[in-house]
Order: sequence, then C-alpha cells, then structure tokens
Amino acid sequence: MGKYDVIVIGAGAAGLMCAGTAAQCGKSVLLLDHAEKVGKKILISGGGRSNFTNRFTTAANYLSQNPHFCKSALSRFSAADFITMVEEAGIAYHERNHGQLFCDDSAKQIVELLMQPCREFGVKIQLNTIISNIQKNEIFELQTNRGVFQADALVVATGGLSIPKMGATPFGLKLAEQFGLKIVPPVAGLAPFTFTGKEKEELQELAGISLGVSVRCRGKVFREAMLFTHRGLSGPAILQISSYWKPGDELEIDLLPDQEITSLLKLKRLSRPLAQLSTVLAELLPKRLVQLLASGHINDDRMQQLSDKQIEHLAYQLHHWRLKPNGTEGYRTAEVTVGGVDTNELSSKTMECRKIPGLYFIGEVMDVTGHLGGFNFQWAWSSGYTAGLAVAGM
Ligand code: FAD
Repeated sequence: MGKYDVIVIGAGAAGLMCAGTAAQCGKSVLLLDHAEKVGKKILISGGGRSNFTNRFTTAANYLSQNPHFCKSALSRFSAADFITMVEEAGIAYHERNHGQLFCDDSAKQIVELLMQPCREFGVKIQLNTIISNIQKNEIFELQTNRGVFQADALVVATGGLSIPKMGATPFGLKLAEQFGLKIVPPVAGLAPFTFTGKEKEELQELAGISLGVSVRCRGKVFREAMLFTHRGLSGPAILQISSYWKPGDELEIDLLPDQEITSLLKLKRLSRPLAQLSTVLAELLPKRLVQLLASGHINDDRMQQLSDKQIEHLAYQLHHWRLKPNGTEGYRTAEVTVGGVDTNELSSKTMECRKIPGLYFIGEVMDVTGHLGGFNFQWAWSSGYTAGLAVAGM
C-alpha cells in the first residue's frame, strides 16, 4: 500500500507534463502506466522527430462541443512556454509549414525533457501496471497488479483510442462513466478515407499521386496536400477534414485552388485551338488524374470545339470534385480521437470534475481535439500543466 498526494494514470504526453509540474510544486506523485515504457506516442510522432507544438496555436485549432473550453489552459501554458522549455534544454528544432515545430534530431529529446523534472522532483513511475479497480471514499484507492495505492487527487491521462497496438485503451472513458460523467461519443480523427465501388477502383488507379488541393466538408476548408492511396485518400488536407466528416457526407475537392480555370482555358482555346483538352489539362494536373477525368468525367475534345458553357462546366467540375467516402480507416491508423469526456463536466481553469472533487482529466481523453500540426501535443502540455498546478493548489 502506498499513499501519495497525486496519482496520474497514463505516462504519455499529458501525464508526464502533469506529474512533473505537480512534483515541482512539492507534491508526492505516483505515475502509473500499463505500457512497458513512457511516452510511446511521442516517440513515434512526426516520423520520429515529433511535431511538438505549433507556433500559431489558438482555440480555433481545436474541435470540441465547447470551443471556448481550451482557451484558459492554452493561455496559462502556451506554445511559447513549451518552446522556451525546449530552448532552455538546448534541443535543436526547426519550423515547417504553417508554424509546425519539429526536433532536428529525435522525439526522444522531448520524452527526456518531460522526464527530467519527474526524476529531479521524485515522481515515482511505475510501468507495466494494470489497474483493476478504482474507488473514491475520503480519498482515491486504486487496486492494481502491483498493489493498492491511495491518493488525494487522481489525474486521468490515458489518451485517446487511436492505434490500439501502441497501448491505447478506453480506460479513461470507462472510468468517467463509472463516476457518472457524460461522454461525447468518440470517433477516429485525422484518419485517411476509404471508398467502395467505382470510386474505390478509380482512386486506386491514382495511388501514389500527391497534389495541393483545397477540401471542403461541413463548412470547413483545408488547403494542403492530398495523397491518393491504394485504400482511398490521405495526406494532410484529408486528415484534417476527416475530423469534421460524418458518415454520409460528401467531400468537395478543389483540384486547382487559386487558379482561374475558366479564363485560363479560354486563353488556351485561342492560343492552341488544335490541342486536346487532356493535353492542356496535363500541364496543370498529374497525367494519371487527367487520364481518369478524360475516361468518362469530361469530354476530351480539341480546345477549339469547346463552347464557353462547356469550359465553364469543366472549370466547375475541377473546382468542385465531389467524392463520398464510405468511412475512415478508423482507430487503426487515426492520429487522434474526436470526442471523449464531456468538457461540461470539467473546470476549464483546473481540469477537475465539477461533480467529483479531486478527479481530473487531461489530454486527449477529453473532448478537445487538435488539428494536425502539433496542436494535440500542445493541448497535452497545456492541460497537463494546468492540472499539475491545480492539484498542488496553485
Ligand atoms: P498519450 O500520449 O496517448 O498517453 C496515454 C498514456 O496512457 C499512454 O502511455 C498509455 O500507455 C496509457 N494508458 C492507456 N490506457 C491505459 C490503462 N488502461 N492503464 C494504464 N495506462 C494506460 N500530435 C502532435 O501534436 N504532433 C505530432 O507529431 C503527432 N504525431 C502523432 C503520430 C501518431 C502516429 C499518432 C498516433 C498520434 C500523433 N499525435 C501527434 C497525437 C498525439 O500523440 C496525442 O494527441 C497525444 O499523445 C495525447 O497525449 P495524451 O497524454 O492525452 O495521451
């Protein structure tokens, strides 16, 4: 039997941040995980270099039924605060598109950055720990395969459901239900799309092609790269929109964003009247995509044969290509979970449950989901830090 001020369940991004913060504030902290090592998702993130935050993080980069919930924690511990930690530790990093920051060397450096205060301030880390039961009377009591542990405060940082192979479980959601908290039904986010029937066959023909597009669904638009795969569609634009997509929705894809196709084709009709439409389009789009369009989606006439109306119709088709996914690849490949513990159950200032004093939820287990680009880790840092201070009464 061990008694601590705080027990944190889940030694991932949010749990490590919270445990280190609470310990620095003088609390005795036990950090439990069922995995054999800490920070597994950090280690594989960003292709091993971890996109550890985004310089332009704001509340607009998050999905939640309460879009205001994340604001307080994001301002209490901002992207700039995490960048300061990274710089003070001497970790070299670089910026890619849209303010995404990555380690120059290895994601291991981020795990080490989080582990350092845990070590220095005496967080007890216990891995390979299976929790079989949690009760709250005066204090929280956890039964595990490694003994019984008690604490005044319990922080749940067990993450989302994506990549079960890496150790993701619904533990946090089940615990929330046990304590009578509402859950926003979880679904896979930042996930590639799959298709059936003719669309599937056609898209397979294009596997390997990547192009800059703008994708629209449910009023959201993302202008980034799209990748055709053997299973369907992927790439940043697709992953981003997948977090908003609901079954039955169509995607509207602008294959030539920022290009005024109507006037461009009218000019080509004058300058190259004898050229085939597909030849002209192949100068703007990948050849295999043009072949697919020419094989049934458009009339591949000579430019001089195209009427204004046909050109306008064609331009519309290229700017509004409509596809209907039958689903996403699901948690097997999704980067995050959309949904989770309902934020109405929690205080945005502390992450503590309104109904159960002493019980906290942080990171991806709750209904706050970031866009692609370092926002999910930033939420883990911000919510972990906020709860770490709160359990220490600060
Ligand atoms: P996690 O980091 O997932 O930690 C949860 C912890 O809880 C794990 O250690 C797990 O073992 C433990 N746990 C789970 N169930 C139990 C249980 N029953 N008992 C005990 N312990 C349990 N986000 C970014 O911002 N940038 C990126 O570059 C990025 N790349 C990613 C790449 C991939 C392949 C994936 C899958 C995700 C990526 N993400 C990225 C998302 C990011 O990893 C998560 O949003 C973030 O890790 C969430 O932090 P968390 O602490 O809430 O959960």
